[in-house]
Amino acid sequence: MTGLLRDLASPPKFDSVVEERLHRKQRLAASFRLFGKFGFDEGVAGHITVRDPEHLNRFWVNPFGMNFKHIRVSDLICVDHTGTVVEGDARVNAAAFAIHSQVHAARPDVIAAAHSHSLHGKAWSSLGRLLDPITQDACAFFEDHALFDDFTGVVLDLDEGKRIAAAMGRTKAVILRNHGLLTVGHSVDAAVWTFITMERSCQAQLLAEAAGTPILIDADTARATYARVGGPVACHVGFQPLWDMITREQPDLFD
Ligand SMILES: [Zn+2]
Repeated sequence: MTGLLRDLASPPKFDSVVEERLHRKQRLAASFRLFGKFGFDEGVAGHITVRDPEHLNRFWVNPFGMNFKHIRVSDLICVDHTGTVVEGDARVNAAAFAIHSQVHAARPDVIAAAHSHSLHGKAWSSLGRLLDPITQDACAFFEDHALFDDFTGVVLDLDEGKRIAAAMGRTKAVILRNHGLLTVGHSVDAAVWTFITMERSCQAQLLAEAAGTPILIDADTARATYARVGGPVACHVGFQPLWDMITREQPDLFD
């Protein structure tokens, strides 16, 4: 679909799981290109996952050790609930499996999850605080994100993944203290847009607090603003201009 009449608010409906799988993988590959473009890569850290539309306890993820900026649809791998790579010729990042498998298991509503060691997200995470409603954009997280207030090293065991999922509850994002951000969504688009705007809200609050004392938006106004900018539709829509940009700029991601 092209042009201004396309539906920006939700993923299209598909006649087959084959088409839906391809759609999700294309969105996933584009999301890695965006993460790379925004500098969210840090060595081999970071992962975005999307649930398979047919095998609901499997997810598609980036191959371990591959630069986000190079990832194509054909590079994505599929992992089952035991951590076995069932499609693709690469290893999965152990932390990706430990965290994302438990988030996907705890939240059947979640189609995609995104995590990286982006600079402002990890800087903010060291403060052990939730984001405050200091801007219109930050209201997207008002009463809809959580703090995982416990850093015990690199997440490699499923128990810690379970505890992160429990801390997240029904929210769309969690700040992993001393680590970084993790976001989820009902589409790849929503999870990834939520990550990008959350990283920027961390940057904005760090800047504002470095310069002075930000004025908070009152709770009623923050709640009303959340309804406009923080819901699933707004999160999905926010991704669309980025999709247009990255697919025009880097069409090889479809290979
Ligand atoms: Zn991490």
